[in-house]
Amino acid sequence: MSLVSMIRELEKARAGGYAVPCFDTFDMMGAAGIISALEARRAPGIIGLYTRWMEQTEGRAFVQLVRAMAEDATVPVSLVLDHGASFEHCVKALALGFSDVMYDGSKLPLDENIAQTKLIVRAAHAVGAGVEAELGHVGSGHDYQSFGALGKGFTDPAAAERFVAETGVDALAVAIGTAHGQYQGEPRLALDLLAEIRARVAIPLVLHGGSGLAATQFRNAIEGGVAKINIFTELAIEARDRLLAEAGRGEATLLSLLAQVREGFQHQCERHIDMFGAAGKATLDHDGQSGAEG
Ligand SMILES: [Zn+2]
Repeated sequence: MSLVSMIRELEKARAGGYAVPCFDTFDMMGAAGIISALEARRAPGIIGLYTRWMEQTEGRAFVQLVRAMAEDATVPVSLVLDHGASFEHCVKALALGFSDVMYDGSKLPLDENIAQTKLIVRAAHAVGAGVEAELGHVGSGHDYQSFGALGKGFTDPAAAERFVAETGVDALAVAIGTAHGQYQGEPRLALDLLAEIRARVAIPLVLHGGSGLAATQFRNAIEGGVAKINIFTELAIEARDRLLAEAGRGEATLLSLLAQVREGFQHQCERHIDMFGAAGKATLDHDGQSGAEG
């Protein structure tokens, strides 16, 4: 069984000069594609499940399914609540057996983000789970030209130093020019800002909205201290394109259609694992656990 907390994997990644991929999924075929890719490339990885699952009727069942798939994997896999919307969502996720949670208080005033994150760190650490938080705000690619391209909402290095010191958080998502979804125009990363943040913050940094960046941008970000990169849009696009192509073939069946989701996810996951330098980095300790504390 290799469900592990992401924290030690992120520290190993930073020391080793690579990044652990975090892939989101909304269904079982996507999850299977992610795990197949991690196993094929012998890479550690993270599966992200969006916070909305904490309110959906099928949420508990879906989490149990993905958790069992992670446990059965032969490489270290972490299960992380993505963009946890509240203390309640994070605690529910911990109770459902997530290995780690991300809490996103990035739209709150700094003091309130600190206060909320601190509470969640206490709850998560009590059960051996790690916490990622976000400072600065990673917005949507649709309006990239009105914020990311202008440097709006970026992480303030001094605030990051204070945030990490006061909350005790394990990883920090930063806003340095990425966005969720498809970009309007070309994404540009503020690498000088990343260097300033890294000089003040010792914990692994996280990049959300990785879909659409070039291989050199990923490399620069990793050299700048990023140890976890979130990807979803590229997985969704390839799965959709494959579904449409398969549907256009006369003899498509339900099963041949569903297989496209798995294959699309697997192909894009392998491509990103390779770009992040994570291939071959899955190492299990002698007791079969990979890096989980306890
Ligand atoms: Zn995100």
